[in-house]
Amino acid sequence: MDNVFVYVEIEGTEVKEVSQELLTKGRKLANELGVELHAVVCGTGIKDKVESQILPYGVDKLFVFDGDGLFPYTSAPHTDILVNLFKEEKPQICLMGATVIGRDLGPRVSSSLTSGLTADCTQLEIGTYDDKKSGKHYDGLLYQIRPAFGGNIVATIVNPDHRPQMATVRSGVMQKALYEGQAKGEVTYPDVTKYVSKEAFVVKVLDRHVEAAKHNLKGSPIVVAGGYGVGSKEGFDTLFKLAKELHGEVGASRAAVDAGWADHDRQIGQTGVTVHPKVYIACGISGQIQHIAGMQDSGIIISINSDPDAPINRIADYVITGTVEEVVPKLIKYYKQNSK
Ligand SMILES: Cc1cc2nc3c(=O)[nH]c(=O)nc-3n(C[C@H](O)[C@H](O)[C@H](O)COP(=O)(O)OP(=O)(O)OC[C@H]3O[C@@H](n4cnc5c(N)ncnc54)[C@H](O)[C@@H]3O)c2cc1C
Repeated sequence: MDNVFVYVEIEGTEVKEVSQELLTKGRKLANELGVELHAVVCGTGIKDKVESQILPYGVDKLFVFDGDGLFPYTSAPHTDILVNLFKEEKPQICLMGATVIGRDLGPRVSSSLTSGLTADCTQLEIGTYDDKKSGKHYDGLLYQIRPAFGGNIVATIVNPDHRPQMATVRSGVMQKALYEGQAKGEVTYPDVTKYVSKEAFVVKVLDRHVEAAKHNLKGSPIVVAGGYGVGSKEGFDTLFKLAKELHGEVGASRAAVDAGWADHDRQIGQTGVTVHPKVYIACGISGQIQHIAGMQDSGIIISINSDPDAPINRIADYVITGTVEEVVPKLIKYYKQNSK
């Protein structure tokens, strides 16, 4: 009872990175609350294949539901498993990825348990809450923090009375790390038929196509990102040249994506991907809150902007005041010269 749960996503027998990121966060939350971290994974033929990808993140108890029809994911069986397991286990927190699966499963589970859910959280913390109306004081609540009202404010959402407190988080927002402390690492293999009705398997996946990612923006140590100030698709070609020299990847602001200068899957920010590179070079990007949400944890931020007062300069470690057209070719030239 009262533990922190993470729903672990898999592709075949491979655990998704977003789940390992959430296990790392879940472990921290569990430590703060003085409770256990539990994980639940559902799939077909996963016994003895997924445990070693989950337990090292500090899991005290892992529930492995292994049975026919649990992979590829379909809504009903996974919902049944979580709802019935949570009725028994009564967790206080449940985290899942803000992925295609998490966005489908989270609301189903939360509405079945009347628990409430905050989607796309960018931070999760533990804190107190005073309800001014009832005069009640709450300790140890999950602060579900995310941009709200079109990104104009950062809202902290609490769910004082209903359990579990559920939140989804996009891939890349939290950082994964193996747990260095001691966790119990217990594994249990519940009987799937006790949790899922036969009718839940009515939907069968007959065929499935998964498109491989075209680039490694999320995992790249160097990101050269272009904004509306890049001015054209040709301008982006120069950014690709710089990224190639630096062995990095190209990202973009939403304004640049909307202008058709970069593919949608390169968008960084609140409604794009979140990146944590060692070096982030922002070219012609003003630095609106929705963009910053996706890159603010970069190691070193370099801003190239014609406006010395561009908001991004406030979070940049280095600012180059000048135009992209003028500065980027020079960066390429001198980098080539100096790295010979
Ligand atoms: C709900 C919501 C979600 C959003 N999600 C995202 C998101 O995920 N990611 C995102 O990026 N945005 C997002 N946005 C949009 C965001 O609010 C901004 O509109 C967008 O980030 C602006 O992009 P930009 O900085 O490229 O363009 P601009 O704000 O137009 O800035 C262009 C910058 O380029 C500089 N510049 C101009 N010419 C040059 C030049 N020749 N050389 C150098 N610098 C130059 C200018 O000084 C300026 O600073 C979202 C908005 C909303 C409402």
